[in-house]
Amino acid sequence: MDTIFGQRPTCAEINLANLAFNFNSAKKFIGANINYMAVVKADGYGHGAVECAKKLESIGVEWLGVALPEEGLELRANKIKLPILCLGGFWSGQEKLLIEEKLTPVIYRLEQAENLNRAAQEKGVVVNVHIKIDTGMGRIGVRVDEVKNFVERLKNFRNLNIQGIMTHFAAADNLQENEFTNLQIKRFEDVLKIFAENRIEPTFRDLANSPGAVVHENSLGNMVRLGGILYGLGDDVLPAGVDKPELRPVMSVHTRISQLKKVPKGESIGYSRTFMTNKDSLIATIPIGYQDGFARSLSNCGRVIINNCFAPVVGRVSMDWTIVDVTSVPNVKVDDQVIIIGSNNGLSITAEELARKTGTISYEITCRINYRIPKKYVGS
Ligand SMILES: *Cc1c(COP(=O)(O)O)cnc(C)c1O
Repeated sequence: MDTIFGQRPTCAEINLANLAFNFNSAKKFIGANINYMAVVKADGYGHGAVECAKKLESIGVEWLGVALPEEGLELRANKIKLPILCLGGFWSGQEKLLIEEKLTPVIYRLEQAENLNRAAQEKGVVVNVHIKIDTGMGRIGVRVDEVKNFVERLKNFRNLNIQGIMTHFAAADNLQENEFTNLQIKRFEDVLKIFAENRIEPTFRDLANSPGAVVHENSLGNMVRLGGILYGLGDDVLPAGVDKPELRPVMSVHTRISQLKKVPKGESIGYSRTFMTNKDSLIATIPIGYQDGFARSLSNCGRVIINNCFAPVVGRVSMDWTIVDVTSVPNVKVDDQVIIIGSNNGLSITAEELARKTGTISYEITCRINYRIPKKYVGS
C-alpha cells in the first residue's frame, strides 16, 4: 500500500467489495425472503460506519442498526436514507432529535415510551418504535413476565406505532446452549401472542444476530440483524463444525518499519526488560502500539508479516511502538511493509488470531482500530 506523504504509514484498508460479498453470501445462505438489518454500531465495528453504510445501502440492505442515536445522526449527516434502528434505545432529551432525524428507537422502559409519545404529540406525528424483549439475555429489554402489564400501558400512547418487536440471544454461538436458545425463541413467540391479543401486530419481528441467523433456522422471524459476519468476522463467534456462508475479511492493517538495528546477544528489549536477545539479532521497530489497538497483551507473543515471513513481537508492546525480531527475515530494510492484520502469499494474520492470543473476540480487535489509524477504502 502506498503511504501518504507526510503521514505515519500505519493504516487500515477497508475492502468494501468484500463487505458486499459477505452480505450477498450471508443472504444466500440464510434466505432471501426476510429483511436484513446491517449493524454498523461502534463505527461499523471499527471499519467506518459511514462508508460501510453507504455500500450496504447500495446493495439492498433494508435496515441499519446502531447502538446510540448519536451514531444514527452521523449516518443521517452523511445522507444515508435507510431506516435506522437505535438498538440501545435513547436517553432522555433525545426525543425531538429522534423524530427530526427519523431515527427509530428501541424501547424497553415505559418512561421512554411516555416521553417519546409526548414529543410526538407536540409535533403532531406518529413515530415508529421497536419493543425490546428480554427473553433470557438479562440485559436491556422488558422481562417476559412483565410484558402483559407493559403492553396494557403501551396502548395508551397514541403517537407511537409499534413497528417492531425484537429480542437478542445470549448464546446462539454455543451449540451446547441450544436448549436455552430454543427457550428464548419459544418465549418470544409467546410474547408475540400477547401483543396480538392486544391487537398489536408489528411489521418486524426479529431475534437473530450473526450466529443466530447462521445456526438457528427457527430463529429468523422476518428480519435478522447481522453485524460480525458482514465484516468477515466470526470464525470465533460462529460455532466450529457447522455449515456457514463463505466470508472474506474486510479489514487489513499495515505499517512500515521505522528503524532497524543490530543488537548483540544478551541485551534487553523494551519496557521492563521482558525480552533478552539470545543471539546476535536484527530488531525492527514499527509505529503501532496499544493505543492503536495492537494490544499490550501481544507483548512477547504477537507476530507480524514482513517480506513473506512471520516476525515475532519481542518485549513489551508500548503505546505507540512495537518491536519485532526480523533476524530471519530476508532482505529486510527500513520502510518495508509490515502486515498487522491481513494476508499475503498464503501467510495470514486474522483478527480471530489476535483475539485468541489476547483473550477476546475478533469484534473487539477491529473495534479498537481507532481514529489514529487512517482508513483507506477500496472496492467501492
Ligand atoms: C450488536 C448487535 C447485533 C449484531 O450482532 P452480531 O453478532 O455482530 O451479528 C444484533 N442485535 C443487537 C441487539 C445487537 O446489539
